[in-house]
Amino acid sequence: MDNHIEGGGIPRKCECGAPTIILESKTAQNPGRRFYRCGEIYGPNHVFKWLDEAHHEELGILRSQQAMIAKDLAEIKTEIGELKKDIGEIIEVLESFRSKF
Ligand SMILES: [Zn+2]
Repeated sequence: MDNHIEGGGIPRKCECGAPTIILESKTAQNPGRRFYRCGEIYGPNHVFKWLDEAHHEELGILRSQQAMIAKDLAEIKTEIGELKKDIGEIIEVLESFRSKF
């Protein structure tokens, strides 16, 4: 298991452009194990990927995306807090002008 982090997750399309399909292995080594395969051509240079491995990768991708979104959200909250403060100060200045004239 060397490529489970950079592995791209669920293969939705083959490099040839064909959508992938899900099939079930009938070999003695992997009975009933499902896999993604190119929907057009079975062979080299066309997608073959075990479904459990693809889903494991996909979960890792979603986890890191979620972590990035959480980080962005925290930054946005901080920026909103700072903007509110700035607006409050601007309003104070405007009101002090208004009281002078
Ligand atoms: Zn293909």
